[in-house]
This record gives sequence, structure tokens and C-alpha cells, in this order.
Amino acid sequence: MSDYDVDLFVIGGGSGGVRAARIAAQHGARVMLAEEYRVGGTCVIRGCVPKKLLVYASRFRAEFEDAEGYGWTMPQARFDWPTLIANKDKEIARLEAAYTMTLEKAGVTIVKSRATVADAHTVRLNNGKSVRAAYILVATGGAPTYGDAIAGVEHAISSNEAFHLPELPPHLLIQGGGYIALEFAGIFAGLGAQVTVIYRGDNILRGFDDDVRRHVRMDMEKRGIKVVTGCKVASIERINGRFLAEFSNGFRHTADCVMFATGRAPNVANLGLKEAGVEIAKNGAVVVDEYSRTRVPSIYAIGDVTNHINLTPVAIREGHAFADTVFGGKPTMVDHTNVPTAVFSDPEVGAVGLTEAQARASLAQTDIYRAMFKPLKATLSGRDTTVLLKLVVDGLTDRVVGCHIVGEGAAEMVQMVTIAVKMGATKADFDATMALHPTTAEELVTLRTKSASYAREAAE
Ligand SMILES: Cc1cc2nc3c(=O)[nH]c(=O)nc-3n(C[C@H](O)[C@H](O)[C@H](O)COP(=O)(O)OP(=O)(O)OC[C@H]3O[C@@H](n4cnc5c(N)ncnc54)[C@H](O)[C@@H]3O)c2cc1C
Repeated sequence: MSDYDVDLFVIGGGSGGVRAARIAAQHGARVMLAEEYRVGGTCVIRGCVPKKLLVYASRFRAEFEDAEGYGWTMPQARFDWPTLIANKDKEIARLEAAYTMTLEKAGVTIVKSRATVADAHTVRLNNGKSVRAAYILVATGGAPTYGDAIAGVEHAISSNEAFHLPELPPHLLIQGGGYIALEFAGIFAGLGAQVTVIYRGDNILRGFDDDVRRHVRMDMEKRGIKVVTGCKVASIERINGRFLAEFSNGFRHTADCVMFATGRAPNVANLGLKEAGVEIAKNGAVVVDEYSRTRVPSIYAIGDVTNHINLTPVAIREGHAFADTVFGGKPTMVDHTNVPTAVFSDPEVGAVGLTEAQARASLAQTDIYRAMFKPLKATLSGRDTTVLLKLVVDGLTDRVVGCHIVGEGAAEMVQMVTIAVKMGATKADFDATMALHPTTAEELVTLRTKSASYAREAAE
């Protein structure tokens, strides 16, 4: 590899790129990494981490309200958006510095520049310099898209800008029905804004279990978030500092901020990948094999740019597996089955494995176990909310093939259930597990009867 300037050039310092660079360097490779914006990537700078900090901030409202039923008298709580954003920015800067230090300590050379692929072994930097590399790893992630080109789309912000608004908008219109749209709806509503979510499909959270979709919508509406489905924003006009959105059904809606969370696309534009011989799918994703290798043997790609499962832990695993495969002498494939996922909306969702519809379409027999109940905490607080727990079971093998939870702590619960699902636990194993009382999660091991219809339970 000594004919090259480096053994590995990583394009993109996000979740996947950072892990791949560090592990490759620890395996003894000479590694250079280019980052055009901030080290840490989407997750750390404008994704998972700052989002979760804002989610925490937004949930204090309900805690303050609930406290009264438990005997607390609360002085009028006041919220200050600039304080939250400044504190969040401080933490993100700390994390960025920590990521940078970890890479440098591992011996990775960081270049703050955009990088493009010139050929199978050459990367070009902004300053015109070229670097020759034995291997190139594309870890450029994805970026928000705005859907159809509509009049006034330039007035809409994406999640990127939502993290840096100068003030909390009193009225927000959020277009999109996926996890980013719903998480920001919960954040802004919790912080005191009036929020309307508009989504063109028949219900929010496409791809999630249908019971989860119904339950989240019902609970969000109870919390005062307006959800409009089967409709989309047709145009946006700026009038006196506010925004007038016209919907496809002719309705008009005025808001102080319009946010689009209508999807994300792989970052491949002008990267030089096609010209170098790398195959790009119709949706813009870099096509790779099970070892993350593209059609060009010296070029690999991981994370969101491959558009497999766009989650941080997946990008990290793929980065680690790539480094072990190419520089560690240990060919490693990533297992993409049973990846748990969460929506940090209000109410929160945690899910792993098959939805009921997927199970019914692929298994000879599907059994459903489901519970919907008022959580203990909501008794004294008087909050009108219910938790949904659902197990999807293969009726022939008794294996639990899916778990779906809506309610407080759903993500934490599903992370643990994922271990059991991954190990192939059966419903009998769940039944044999002693309950931990009083918890919400204990219902997972006390579900004895196959489920009645959701509609009937919801009405009770
Ligand atoms: C609002 C939001 C919330 C999210 N919440 C969660 C969550 O709760 N849990 C979860 O698991 N996932 C979440 N995600 C998804 C998660 O952030 C991504 O899956 C993850 O960051 C992907 O990692 P990556 O390494 O593929 O790309 P990224 O982290 O996007 O990193 C790519 C990096 O490459 C850089 N780059 C791009 N092109 C170039 C170039 N030509 N030259 C140099 N640098 C370049 C970019 O600046 C970026 O830093 C969220 C995403 C968003 C937007």
C-alpha cells in the first residue's frame, strides 16, 4: 500500500465515518478523514443528540402539570428558548471536540474540507490538492429533501434549521408523517407552540404497526397537536412576517414557521462516484454488497448514503465491520435483522421486528397479544393517556417476532426486548419470566390471552 499517500481516505466525519476511521487506524492503517461541516455528522450535530436534548426540554411541561395531582404546588413555570438553544449548542461543541480528539488520538489525520472522488484511488480536496488512497470509504450521509417543487418552498425550513431558530414560533405547521416530523411536533408543542402536522398519506408513521400508528395519533391529538392527513401543502406565501400555506384540499393555514420533514436523500451529488464507476440506485443510494463494497473494488460506502436503514447504530456497525474486513483481516457482515427503532414523539414509540401486517403476510400463523391500559402514574395526575404494548408471535414456532410499545419509556423497554427477540425467545419464555412490579414493562410477561380487536379495546 506504500504507493499511496494513505491506506484509507474516509469522506464524511459522521457516525459511520468516524467509527471506520478510528478502527482502521487501530488496525494500523494510515487514515485521512475529510469533513466539510462539523466532525460528528448528522447524529451529533443536527440529529439524534440535539433532538433528544430538545425532547427532554419539552417533556418538563407534562411533568409540571402532572406534579399537582401528587401534591406539588408549582409556581408558574417559564420557558426560555434562547437558553435551551445556547446550552444545547455548548454540549454539541463539547461532543464535537471529543470526537475530534478521539480520532486524532487514534492517529487519524482530519482535513476540514469537502472531498470528492477523482478516480478509484484518488480523492480531491477543496484546495485542489489530490490524495492517493488504497481504499476510499464514502460515508457522506444524507440531507433533507423538500418533496415536490411548490411555490414558496424556499420559506420552509428543515430539521437542520429547526435546531437554530432565533425564537420559539407560536404557531408551527409541520409537513411530514415520519419520525422526524412527529418528534419535532412533540418538541414544539411541549415547549408551548400550537402545532399542526400535515401528511399526504392516510395515517402518520408509515411502515410502523397499524395499532401503533392509530395509538400515536390518538394520543398526540389528546395533547393538542392537530393532525391533518390525506392532504399536503400546495403553496406557501410570506405575508407580514408570517406564512400562509394553502393545502391541496383548498384549506388555508397561517403559521409563524413552516417546517418540512418530508424525507432525506443520500449525499451523492457531484461526488464523482458515477464517473469513477460506482453504481448509484434510482433513489440516489450508493449500491454496495454485504461487505459495504461498491462495484469499484477500492471504494466502499456505509451509513445513510447507502439508504439501508438510516439509523446511527447501523452506520456505526457498518463502519466498524468495514474496518475489520479491510484492515483487520476479519471479514465481517452486518446483520440488518431485528434492528430496534424509536420515535421520541409524545407519546414515545419503541419497536422491533415484524409488524402485525408483515407477520400476517409472511407467516403461516400469527398470534397477537396486546394490552392497552392507563399507566399507574396517570392515576393521580389525571392525565388522559394510555400505554400500548403488543407482541407479534409466530403461531407455529411460538417465537416472538415483533414487539411494539407506545408510551413513556417505550424506547428503553424495546432496547431490552430486542435482546430476547434476537435470541429467538418464545412467547413461553416471556410467560416464564417473572414480572417486575409495579412497572409498565411487566405487562410484556403477563400477556396471556390472544388479542381482541384494537378498535374494541380503544373504545373501552
Ligand atoms: C433530525 C434527525 C434526528 C435523528 N434521530 C435519530 C435517532 O434518534 N436515532 C438514530 O439512530 N438515528 C437518528 N437519525 C439518523 C442518524 O443521524 C443517521 O442515520 C446517522 O447520522 C448516519 O450516519 P452517517 O455516518 O451515515 O452520516 P452522517 O452522520 O450524516 O455523516 C455524514 C457526514 O459527511 C459529511 N459530508 C458529506 N459530504 C461530504 C463531502 N463531500 N466531503 C466531506 N464531508 C462530507 C457531512 O457534513 C456529515 O458530517 C436522525 C437524523 C435526523 C436528521
